[in-house]
Amino acid sequence: MTSNGRCSHIEEVTDVKRPKEPQCDECVKMGSTWVHLRTCQTCGVTRCCDSSPNRHASRHARQSGHPVIASAEAGERWLYCYLDEAFAEY
Ligand SMILES: [Zn+2]
Ligand SMILES: [Zn+2]
Ligand SMILES: [Zn+2]
Repeated sequence: MTSNGRCSHIEEVTDVKRPKEPQCDECVKMGSTWVHLRTCQTCGVTRCCDSSPNRHASRHARQSGHPVIASAEAGERWLYCYLDEAFAEY
């Protein structure tokens, strides 16, 4: 794993969680759409990215205190920590 910047939260992720369903449940409930999906590495929920109209992944991070997400997009292998604004590939 390579990382720029120091982030203990990302270092704690040893087994990267992948999405159970390729969807944002909050957007589905609202009848909304998303651009990309991110999976919370603390509880495993999948939410929409900051380019999506509802930004549910960052809202989840703020409300739950779960700082680290992984890209849920096929072929993308990276983690991001909202608290430290740290990025790491795996
Ligand atoms: Zn961090
Ligand atoms: Zn969403
Ligand atoms: Zn979470």
